[in-house]
Amino acid sequence: MKELFSPRWFKSRASESLPDEALRRNIERATETALKKRADVVGAFPEWESYRTAARAVKEHVLENLSSYLASFEEHARANGSTVLYARDGVEACALVMDIVLSAGTRTVVKSKSMTSEEIGLSAALGRSGIQAVETDLGEYIVQLAGEPPSHITAPALHKSRRDIGRLFEQKLGLPYSDEPETLTAVARSVLRDRFFEAGVGISGVNFGLADSGAICVVENEGNARMATTLPPVHIALMGVEKLLPDMRCLALFLDMLARSATGQRLSSYTSIIRGPKRADEWDGPDVLYIIILDNGRTDIFADSRFRSVLSCIRCGACLNVCPVYRVVGGHAYGSAYPGPIGAVLAPFFHGKEDGRHLPYASSLCGACAEICPVRIDIPRLLLLHRGETVRERRAPLIERFLMKAYACVVKRPALYALTGHLLRAFAPLATDEHGLLRIPTRAKTRTFPAPAEKTFREIWKEEGIGST
Ligand code: SF4
Repeated sequence: MKELFSPRWFKSRASESLPDEALRRNIERATETALKKRADVVGAFPEWESYRTAARAVKEHVLENLSSYLASFEEHARANGSTVLYARDGVEACALVMDIVLSAGTRTVVKSKSMTSEEIGLSAALGRSGIQAVETDLGEYIVQLAGEPPSHITAPALHKSRRDIGRLFEQKLGLPYSDEPETLTAVARSVLRDRFFEAGVGISGVNFGLADSGAICVVENEGNARMATTLPPVHIALMGVEKLLPDMRCLALFLDMLARSATGQRLSSYTSIIRGPKRADEWDGPDVLYIIILDNGRTDIFADSRFRSVLSCIRCGACLNVCPVYRVVGGHAYGSAYPGPIGAVLAPFFHGKEDGRHLPYASSLCGACAEICPVRIDIPRLLLLHRGETVRERRAPLIERFLMKAYACVVKRPALYALTGHLLRAFAPLATDEHGLLRIPTRAKTRTFPAPAEKTFREIWKEEGIGST
């Protein structure tokens, strides 16, 4: 992902996305539907605000006591027969997965949707070793067939219409064209069913890990994660270290929050609580369960108390649905596994301060993300903190630093400010179109600004004698 990730990449992909009306229509339709469903279930849930407060408090408590919860989780998970492994970064995590897959003697693994695996580029790493990682979530399967990364945290193929998907299945699977959702789903189901039986290893993410029992919880709507975690003889669960909760009571709270925020459901269709591998008296389940606990920069985030709250994120995707920037540029423009507002906060941590410095600017700071976030993460404040660091550490491009200095110089001097205003108003007609908008040349050709008002506020104030007696 790193080669895709740079300020230049974002600018060029965003410029391509902006005039793409079909893309914008698809994103708008999908996000509007998600927001409406969420509003309905949240509106019918009077405890919502108090649940948000409680959820945030639980997350803060866990983060403050992370090492003891981690030790408890590990102890219980081992007692349940699971193997717990730790990975400092994506490279280590991929190497651990690779070792397990190779020692299982298989070349096919099935995956259920896991943002953590996207974060570390697991499928590509397996592919480089000749191991086929088949995505079994319908959205993930679609983007894998298309050779694209997911464009949304919870709805990976939301940028595609059903006609796009019909054409994709026609081209890649050699099937007659259909854009009927039932037909398309049946096709994917029949292709994937065989893969579940062939695979020697199933890989899943983890929505929540329970410290008091060593159990992991996987939430989904299609049943594919349950099959990927029970049919193959080996199950690998990838868990970010921040996914821990104290106990089952807290899990109930978070299941309420996640389903409502992510998909507008009261509860997701499948909630699997996995305590360990198959026991001697059980019929199904894997023979072995590996839980890989991933750091990958999370302890750096934890160490910076200003940003620690971002570790409370439950990856519901609601902040993407409501973000005016995400909704026009789409997820692929970000070039990161996590797009949208949450991705913009995480980018400098996951991609480095130099490569990740541009995404905190991909925000209008309207505050909609903070309002909708179920765990009350103040995303705009975190974006401003990143921006402040970029300026202090002089990472911003030279031209931007020059322009901001020039702006500061002008606005600090009233006479110079007034003179600049006069000059702007004098020359604005030369660049104003028939709608009275300033034509600003950009690559996307979509940016216009209102021309400066004919009179300044001070002139109107003086003329109308406001404030005089
Ligand atoms: S930041 Fe909040 S709204 Fe965005 S994905 Fe995380 S939990 Fe959901």
